[in-house]
Amino acid sequence: MTDKTDSTIAKDDLVVCDACPVLCRIRTGRTGACDRYGNVDGVLTRMDPFVLADKAAEGGGEMVPFLASNAGPGAESGKEWDGALMRSADTFVTGIGSGTTYPDYKPAPFIVASEHAGVDMVTVVTEGIFCYCGIKVKIDTDRHVGHETAAVRMDGEQVGHVTTAEYGSQMLALGGVRHLTGGSKKEGNATCQMMLALCNKEAVDLTVDGGAEMTLQAGTPPVINGHQEDRMRVGCGSATLGMFAKQWHGHVDEVIVVDDHITGVLSEHQAGQFLDMPVAGIRVRGRKSTPGRYFQVAEPGTGWGGTDITDPLTIIDKIDAKHAKPGMRVLMVSTTGEDAEFFELDDDLKMTKAKMPDPVTKVVDRIGENCEPALASVLFMAGAGGSLRAGVTENPVKLTRSVKEALTRVTCGGAPVYVWPGGGITIMVDVTRLPDNSFGYVPTPAIVGPIEFTVSRKDYETLGGHMDHIVDLATLAGRAKVTGWREDNPWPYGDGKSNGSSQNGPKKQ
Ligand code: SF4
Repeated sequence: MTDKTDSTIAKDDLVVCDACPVLCRIRTGRTGACDRYGNVDGVLTRMDPFVLADKAAEGGGEMVPFLASNAGPGAESGKEWDGALMRSADTFVTGIGSGTTYPDYKPAPFIVASEHAGVDMVTVVTEGIFCYCGIKVKIDTDRHVGHETAAVRMDGEQVGHVTTAEYGSQMLALGGVRHLTGGSKKEGNATCQMMLALCNKEAVDLTVDGGAEMTLQAGTPPVINGHQEDRMRVGCGSATLGMFAKQWHGHVDEVIVVDDHITGVLSEHQAGQFLDMPVAGIRVRGRKSTPGRYFQVAEPGTGWGGTDITDPLTIIDKIDAKHAKPGMRVLMVSTTGEDAEFFELDDDLKMTKAKMPDPVTKVVDRIGENCEPALASVLFMAGAGGSLRAGVTENPVKLTRSVKEALTRVTCGGAPVYVWPGGGITIMVDVTRLPDNSFGYVPTPAIVGPIEFTVSRKDYETLGGHMDHIVDLATLAGRAKVTGWREDNPWPYGDGKSNGSSQNGPKKQ
């Protein structure tokens, strides 16, 4: 039996979807604009499976369509009840496929009771429609992708920008409300499409104004200008000297580690001084920061160490005859060890290419060995501190406070989230920790993402929860797909094995 609202009652063969402001009128056998809801024999139906994650499940279960989010606790089930599985305390109800309630004053699609370690718990699940959402992409490479603030585009539309680089990583800020809704319709649609693909772990092609062409996919090596990146740099030039100076000592008279940030010159550097190395007198271009550490030796680019150079000698400014001597051995190397050349000073103190001695090659190889694999990481960031809270409690600010006090744990598709300090519930989640295809969209445009709030039943009542809408896990039987629980995600009910979440598990009463 369904518990349909007036707006979803079939008129002729049409049903009106009221799960978002678009209010699609859907004919029998068709789906609405977002493909999430369809008209199945005159009943508004959420077309994707509602996902339960079970610690005991091996390889997941069957995919079973279930009735629309407003079907309520008494809805018909599409599959025979598997009591043994559903009674298990090992089952977590995710928001994936749970549906959306709109407007938000309606209770969330599912508010499910369970008992864990003797504590009565409640998990409130929904698929949030996020207008305020974006993506932070961390690209582990020293390859220059574009200048800070440069526009990032997909299909010619601006969908984000290059932001401040982090240690060994280029960073992009993509999506966001301004690109979704503040520009043209085309820009909004491109932004939504890009975010949906990246959140669902698909590859996207992006270009940077004045910078690189990239193919990015969460958890895979980035492809920059057609070249698949392999290594994340071991550190800046100065750090590289600090790590390997002792291993080079005795085999070289100078090491210059070429890096877009800090190029290191060993004999001037504290690491060389500590080893009593005499200054070699080989001066590099750029601005000296401190002894043996130089900024801006070249322009950023896709050459050695994230600079634009392909010939390392172009950064040599002069060779000081007061210190330099014929026969001096000089290594020039990048921060990934991918580029390296060995030189000797000839009688005219000119740097001449020479065969790299084995002990030096060994340390260059060790730089490579110490580089971590280059990866693109995609973090979805969204604001859940708005009207979505009304689906959880009649007094929304109490949910915010409860999250901040770690009485309520927030997860996305079971994955741990980082909750930003300050006002609201602004979350950030690594998309690779969610099941595949957890995200959807609506053409307003906005991204739809699963979100769960887990709290003790007692605290749920205190924060003004929709107590009369709590259902037992058993009522979900036959309406969901069961997947295995991802072992490296902390169990949302709290078992003392938290990892990666900014919150602790709900407190015991
Ligand atoms: S876009 Fe999707 S959620 Fe929104 S009304 Fe249409 S079918 Fe329903």
